[in-house]
Amino acid sequence: MNKHKDHILDVHINPNVSGLKPSATVAINDLSNELKRDGKKIFKMGLGQSPFPVPECVVEALRENAHQKDYLPVKGLRELQEAVAEHHRRNFGIDADPDDVLIGPGSKELMFVLQLTYFGDLVIPAPSWVSYAPQAKIIGRHIQFLPTQFENDWHLTPEDLEERCTLDPGRPRLLILNYPLNPTGTTMSKARLEKLAQVADRYRVVLLSDEIYGKIHHDGAHQSIVPFYPEGTIFSGGLSKWCGAGGWRLGVFVFPRSLRWLLKAMAAVGTETFTSTSAPIQYAAVRAFQEGPEIDAYLKKSRRVLKGLGNAIARRLDEAGARVRYPQGGFYLFPDFSAFRGKLEARGIKTSADMSRRLLEDTGVAFLPGSDFGRSPEELTARLAYVDFNGKEALEAVGSISEDHPFDENFLKTYFGKVIEAIDRINEWMTR
Ligand code: GLU
Repeated sequence: MNKHKDHILDVHINPNVSGLKPSATVAINDLSNELKRDGKKIFKMGLGQSPFPVPECVVEALRENAHQKDYLPVKGLRELQEAVAEHHRRNFGIDADPDDVLIGPGSKELMFVLQLTYFGDLVIPAPSWVSYAPQAKIIGRHIQFLPTQFENDWHLTPEDLEERCTLDPGRPRLLILNYPLNPTGTTMSKARLEKLAQVADRYRVVLLSDEIYGKIHHDGAHQSIVPFYPEGTIFSGGLSKWCGAGGWRLGVFVFPRSLRWLLKAMAAVGTETFTSTSAPIQYAAVRAFQEGPEIDAYLKKSRRVLKGLGNAIARRLDEAGARVRYPQGGFYLFPDFSAFRGKLEARGIKTSADMSRRLLEDTGVAFLPGSDFGRSPEELTARLAYVDFNGKEALEAVGSISEDHPFDENFLKTYFGKVIEAIDRINEWMTR
């Protein structure tokens, strides 16, 4: 008798999780890597991972702290809480107390803990990042999507927020705003942020301000909403995007004093789940948040690369007929390929999901469909993460040319050859 035969166990799965697929960003990355292993030429525009190396001084700090082995307090290493509070005061004008800083194993995890802990509806603009809504579904919260428009740079208008809130003014809700926005690369003006803050304040909305791309605003001109609604806003950030350290999994939340009750409850959940964030990573993160000349220079060059490349490929898409906003921060574009609907439909392509699947099969370019970001399936939008290049070489290259030197064709092809080829393949495929 085969002792090792599989036992068929009854399937008992939490109904909130049943049918849940792996997160779109993670799934497209796994698929791209698999196809690459099979020998296919793949253009990785799926996962939004920083192309740049972690600054050398931060890597050095990690080396020096590899021996750190103790569990740290759930809210984080005291020195790191202090460095984060100071960083936020210096960069964003946020009056943060180190006691109000919560460190976690990635801001994604902190967002999940927040949604679990705060009892209210989730309100998110569409498009917005792939994981906010699935997290709410897992936990069993209601989700209110607020669709946005290209004309408003894909951002929520104060009027739309107000309209939503007046429908049921007393309902507790958590609004997540993200800017510069993943998936569009666009950000909001100070005036827009002020008005949104006034509405959020009027309806006592808890606001999670996801500013993880703030430090890579292409002109270094990021404005936080926190100073406009300090008592109701939690700032969310981390090392993944501006410090090139996605795999380090280090996220931060900064709370106002008035939401200490929420921080305390989240920290209690933290003690029952992740216990504390990796110690060596936290020690190294102190160095990152302290910044200084080396990190300033790194950021300046990162922004030049992202701006120059982002504008160049937006122009290429635009000229070929896609409708696209030029990026202001981060490393994403969100073109709308509706102009090609007729041609695509003739090939049986009716949804953004069909479009991304067929594009990958036909050309090797991996991007994500707009439907993964809460847009209607038939809208032919897609998110392109323009990160498939050697970030180290690109930083050195911009460092060697003057600031007003344009990214000409030769420069683009030398340092961003795969990204440029991917865009050309997309354009050729759309117009086939
Ligand atoms: N934030 C990145 C993205 O949108 C990657 C990380 C993730 O989704 O977990 O692609």
